[in-house]
Amino acid sequence: MQISITKDYPGGNIHMISQEDSHVQLQQEMRDSDGWWFYWNFCAEASEPGEVIFEFTNGEVIGPYGPAISEDGIHWYYDREETFLSHTAFRYHFGNKPIWFAYSIPYQLSQLHSFLKENAWKGITCHTLCVTEQGREIPLLRIGAPETGRNILLTCRHHACESCASYVLEGVMDWLLAKDNLLVRECCIHIVPMIDLDGVENGDQGKNRLPHDHNRDYTDQPIYAVTKAIYQYTENVPLLMGFDFHCPWKWGDVNSLWSIVQGEEPFAKAQQAFSQILEKVTADPKIYTVKNNTVFGSGWNIHRTPSAWRFFFRRGAQVAFSLETPYFGEMKEPFSQDFLRKLGHYFAAAMEQYYLRFLRNE
Ligand SMILES: [Zn+2]
Repeated sequence: MQISITKDYPGGNIHMISQEDSHVQLQQEMRDSDGWWFYWNFCAEASEPGEVIFEFTNGEVIGPYGPAISEDGIHWYYDREETFLSHTAFRYHFGNKPIWFAYSIPYQLSQLHSFLKENAWKGITCHTLCVTEQGREIPLLRIGAPETGRNILLTCRHHACESCASYVLEGVMDWLLAKDNLLVRECCIHIVPMIDLDGVENGDQGKNRLPHDHNRDYTDQPIYAVTKAIYQYTENVPLLMGFDFHCPWKWGDVNSLWSIVQGEEPFAKAQQAFSQILEKVTADPKIYTVKNNTVFGSGWNIHRTPSAWRFFFRRGAQVAFSLETPYFGEMKEPFSQDFLRKLGHYFAAAMEQYYLRFLRNE
């Protein structure tokens, strides 16, 4: 049996080590990341129907539900029963068509374009924030009423591989556009959905990119065009709220929980207040509770490193934080595209509640 493997499409990332009959050895590509990370994404086709074993040789990079699987590169699912062998190997029974596999469910620029096409008539406008180092135009979206001077900034993919966060952001936009709400009537929501667009489309890890990654670029001397553009854009756009959508480490413990990353005081107070609202809105402790939060001083969250949410506070935000959405979760089923969008609906509803309670009458 011959297995042909390609990464020659947006988001592709794989290095084939060897193939012996129906056993393939692979590795994720670290590219310019400092140290180890776990993102991979490839398309495979077998020369004849049959079972193939894919074995990864650099660390545990197969999630608890097996690989994300797609027959068209757009719709994705998991099938633990049929695929999962261990955190380093999975099997798949090929028919006679190509199959896409990925660490978790990808989200590329083409999906954002599909969303925008479907929703253009609802009042979301698309602009270009800037052009990336590799010549791509970074989308800047706006929903709501710019003349109100009440601005909310949403950003995503500071870390290129964190695709599940994009579905949550899509859910937020979906909620904002779906019905009459206070945020759209009384504020302008500015959205930069793909900060490290080159990394997203190239299929980079993006996390811990050298010399530093995009979320560590909020310094006195930013090096990336997109950070400089955000500095410039927000000079005349004082913020009321700012949220930055991420995914955490691969899985386990807090990494399997929907979590708000808290800073130290005085930032933590507003972050806690938002968390309490989000807990009420979700109304299901299996989905979210304040206890999920990654509080400052615990785990990895011990450094006052430059990051987008700190910058949002510097631009006047009354509340800002990173939101960590797990790649899989630890519910009965792994997070699906639809469930991730539903998380976005909860988050948008919490934004509206927070605005109503704390910001509207200021
Ligand atoms: Zn991140």
